[in-house]
Amino acid sequence: MQRGYEKNYRFLISRIIPRNLLSPSRQGSLRDALAGNNKVEMIREAYLSLEELTRLGAYRKDDVERSDSTVALSYLRVGHPTRITLEMTGDEWEIISGEKDRPVEGILPSVFAGIISSMALNDSPKTFSKRIEDLLALLRQINSTSKGHLILLQELPLDSGQGRDLIKFTSWSKLSTNRFYRSSMTSGLSHTFIRLSKNYRGNNLFPIREGTRSIVLVPLVSVDTKWGILEIHFLTEDALDRESFFNFYLLGQGIIRILENNRHLQKMVSVDRLTQVHNRNYYESQLPLEIERANRDRKNLAFLIMDIDDFKNVNDRYGHDVGDGVLRIIAQTVRSHLRKIDLLIRYGGEEFIALLPGAGREDAERTAERLREVVEHTAHTLEDGSKVHATISIGGCVYPDDAQNEIELFRVADKALYLSKRDGKNKVTFYESYDMK
Ligand code: GH3
Ligand code: MG
Ligand code: MG
Repeated sequence: MQRGYEKNYRFLISRIIPRNLLSPSRQGSLRDALAGNNKVEMIREAYLSLEELTRLGAYRKDDVERSDSTVALSYLRVGHPTRITLEMTGDEWEIISGEKDRPVEGILPSVFAGIISSMALNDSPKTFSKRIEDLLALLRQINSTSKGHLILLQELPLDSGQGRDLIKFTSWSKLSTNRFYRSSMTSGLSHTFIRLSKNYRGNNLFPIREGTRSIVLVPLVSVDTKWGILEIHFLTEDALDRESFFNFYLLGQGIIRILENNRHLQKMVSVDRLTQVHNRNYYESQLPLEIERANRDRKNLAFLIMDIDDFKNVNDRYGHDVGDGVLRIIAQTVRSHLRKIDLLIRYGGEEFIALLPGAGREDAERTAERLREVVEHTAHTLEDGSKVHATISIGGCVYPDDAQNEIELFRVADKALYLSKRDGKNKVTFYESYDMK
């Protein structure tokens, strides 16, 4: 490249630098620099772009040559015989190099990488909230007056630590009543900046500290999921420039990665392989959340335990493989007769639990009776065309009317199941206080 000709920087920015590899905010600045037609701006954008590409691993920094009056920075394209040299005067470099003392952009991706790669199959709710906290704490490196919060549209198991104050769960219908939240999630923009007036009265989900001057909302949206919003409060609005916004965006991407990984891990550890319904693991983490949700929404939660009748006979008569087939078809039949929001769990060998959010006694009894009936009329077909029938017995109760905690729910429903068995099987029994003693 020839020395410092303005038209060459224009050419470099518009034709040589692979813009599609750059972050959205950097692409925006490049466009602005081209439109502004200011040489120093263009050099600066070329420099920042190449630094970003170097951090991404697409370029490698080569020589830095300085003489009294000029500075030349060279970058090599990785795996490609291309070299780009930025030449500029010492004065221009003085102006531009002010940009280089910004360690955060380099730090953040490596911290993300560390946090994300250390996620493991045995991640507990505790470590999960800790990871989110760690990421939110990084905000202070971008802007020391900032405080980050997370709004999530899906419930996740959290421990009772600090994460509780930083993370809130809500539904899309509630979130969208706040116009800032709504537009942040739907505008497709990487962030929304809100400058607070003195008497700002937004119905934010998080308390606004005394002295808060501005709020940035970063939507956490991936191809198939609206996860929520990263909400950052600032006591200042001065230091919020393009680079900061890009870092917020990166932080949001890091949070999305954690949430996606977590979803993937949850799925791997929460589904029963034989029947493809949830397993006991899932039940144990989900039941407390369902109870919490029932409390919050002031709704019932119905609890059903189902046990296949005389299943030992099926195994004894047809063999274990046929027994497995019967288990599978009963699980799928029951699943297909529940609502989408109901949860079906294989609790143990041939015992299942269904949780029916929002269902009161009447609904639950009707559902249980329907399940009993469809299973009675479902058959597992053997290779020779003959059919194996099985029936289930069900015991049920309703939170909070019949039982007030996880252990009681199980105990009471199990007692009702026992009565169904005692009374001849293929029956539904619900909690009645007088005969449950
Ligand atoms: P009841 O009507 O009293 O429930 O009689 P039951 O024979 O179903 O009772 P029990 O709970 O004593 O027996 C359950 C049987 O389920 C025993 C076990 O061999 C069988 N079983 C448990 N898990 C599986 C499985 O994954 N596959 C198969 N094929 N059988 C299983
Ligand atoms: Mg059993
Ligand atoms: Mg049984």
